[in-house]
Parts: sequence; C-alpha cells; structure tokens
Amino acid sequence: KLAYGAPVVGDHGRWLGVVIVMHDVSELVRLEQIRKDFVANVSHELRTPITSIKGFSETLLDGAYKDEGMALSFLEIIHQESNRLQILIQDLLELSKIEQHGFSVDIIPTPLQEVLVRAADLTAQRLEEKNMQFQVEFAKEVVVEGDANRLIQIFTNLIFNAIMYSFEETTVTIRVFEKDKWGVVEIIDEGIGIKKSEIPRVFERFYRVDRARSRDSGGTGLGLAIVKHLVEAHHGKIQVESEVGKGTTMRVMLPLHTP
Ligand code: ADP
Repeated sequence: KLAYGAPVVGDHGRWLGVVIVMHDVSELVRLEQIRKDFVANVSHELRTPITSIKGFSETLLDGAYKDEGMALSFLEIIHQESNRLQILIQDLLELSKIEQHGFSVDIIPTPLQEVLVRAADLTAQRLEEKNMQFQVEFAKEVVVEGDANRLIQIFTNLIFNAIMYSFEETTVTIRVFEKDKWGVVEIIDEGIGIKKSEIPRVFERFYRVDRARSRDSGGTGLGLAIVKHLVEAHHGKIQVESEVGKGTTMRVMLPLHTP
C-alpha cells in the first residue's frame, strides 16, 4: 500500500488535523507481475524452437548435410520447429488482438448446430488419426446471439483439446441444449482429465498441466486463454468439470436469441 499524509493548517497556523490518502496498489502490483510473467513466458517459448533451429542448421552447415539420412532428419526437425514458431506467433497476435480495448464480435442470430458441424469437420482428421469418434446430441435447433466465425474458433479449439488429451478409441460427445436464457454446448471427452486444483488455471496464458505433452502435440498453451476471451466477448460463460483419468466437460453458455 502507498500512503501520503499532509497536515491541515487553519488560520494563524493552527493545526486542525492531518489528511491521509491511501492507495491500494496491490492490484497494480499483481498486474505488473502478470505482465512480467507473460514476457518471460513468451521469451522462453520463442527461445526453445529458435535454439533448436540454430543448432541443427549449424550442424548441417558443419558437414552433416553430406549424410543424407542425417540431413533429412535434421531438416525435419527444423521444419517442425519453424511450424511451432509460426503457430505460436499466430496465437500471440490473435490473443493481443482479442485483448485490445474495443475488441468486439459481430453478433447476429446464429444456429449452434451449423457452427458445430463446421467445427467437427475441421477436427475430423485429428479424430480419425486417434481412432476416436464423435457422438452428437442435439435436442432441437438452438439459436444464440453470436459471431459464427468466432464460435467456430471457440469450438474447434475445445474439440481439438478434447481429442488431444484423450486416449485412443474413445468418444467425444457434443451436446447442445437450452437452459434458462442460455444456449449450452458441452464438449465431453473421456481423456486424462484435469486435477481440481489445476482447473481454474487452465485459462491462464501459457499454463499447461503437462508442458511436455502439450508441446509434443503442438499446443501453445494459449488456446483456452483465447477461448475464454471470445466467450466473454459474447457475454457468455465457460465452465469446466473434470475428473482425473475419467475425462473433462467443457461447457460454453451463450445468450439465446429471443425473437
Ligand atoms: P494447449 O495448447 O497446451 O492445449 P490450452 O490453453 O488449450 O493449451 O489448454 C491449457 C492446458 O489445459 C493444456 O495444456 C492441458 O493441460 C489442459 N487441458 C485443456 N483441455 C483439456 C482437456 N480436454 N482434457 C485435459 N486437459 C486439458
């Protein structure tokens, strides 16, 4: 806390009292810490692939290019790491755009089913690679106030995660229904789950429960931070229920369109 004090002096120099102004700066200190952590995280995330690109290309230049097998495998790594850099920078730019003051989404009546069919299409290949399947539960047509492209982005992200953190040959259930004034979408997986204590943290930028697993699967740790911002830009809510070893439910609630 910061405090300033000043005497209050009346006529003839008589002391009347003291005015003390106190500023609670704990929120500012907290925000400053978040900013510093963010910069440190970005630097770390950028440094890792750059170090590897630099190291492997130097070894190639030093003569490893002459061995075709070695050259191919090094080039493969360099290619993979540059892809990772590209995705990371895309996600960072996206997050910074979404976090700008004045960022808004174009809200019109949007049927959730159409959005989810598109998101399922975009993730189908990844699903097949893990021999997994979708189960779709649409009670009836649910129309929300939303920006279709942003909603596709939200659900594609959540479905990718559901696949990424699941075991092979399991099912991802996509359930859509109405509750009170909300259009609700649940993405339910039968994956590794998230510990209770970690649940509130998964929306933080760069937070990953298992860094190595996320990195290996091409995750940047920014997906859920982006999703949360987008849901909030729709005046919606996102909730997580999870049990370790059993699976996770990501629930997105969006304002229903009322004609
Ligand atoms: P990432 O790119 O690492 O997936 P996200 O921001 O999308 O980053 O998610 C943050 C972390 O939350 C992940 O690293 C993972 O540990 C956890 N997580 C997200 N979705 C799930 C899920 N469906 N099941 C289990 N863990 C999940």
